[in-house]
Amino acid sequence: MFNAGAYAQPPPATAYLCAACGEETELKPKEPVRCKTCGHRVLYKKRTSRMVQFEAR
Ligand SMILES: [Zn+2]
Repeated sequence: MFNAGAYAQPPPATAYLCAACGEETELKPKEPVRCKTCGHRVLYKKRTSRMVQFEAR
């Protein structure tokens, strides 16, 4: 069984860097991956510097 208490706390936002404009965008797990400044969908995960690309479905 899952621990219900684990879902009570909001998940931490993850910082991303936009591949298009370079602006930092913080996204929570349930938010759509998109730059809040320019709307670009290719964001770099800030800590790993690996490119994470999310295609719209
Ligand atoms: Zn951008």
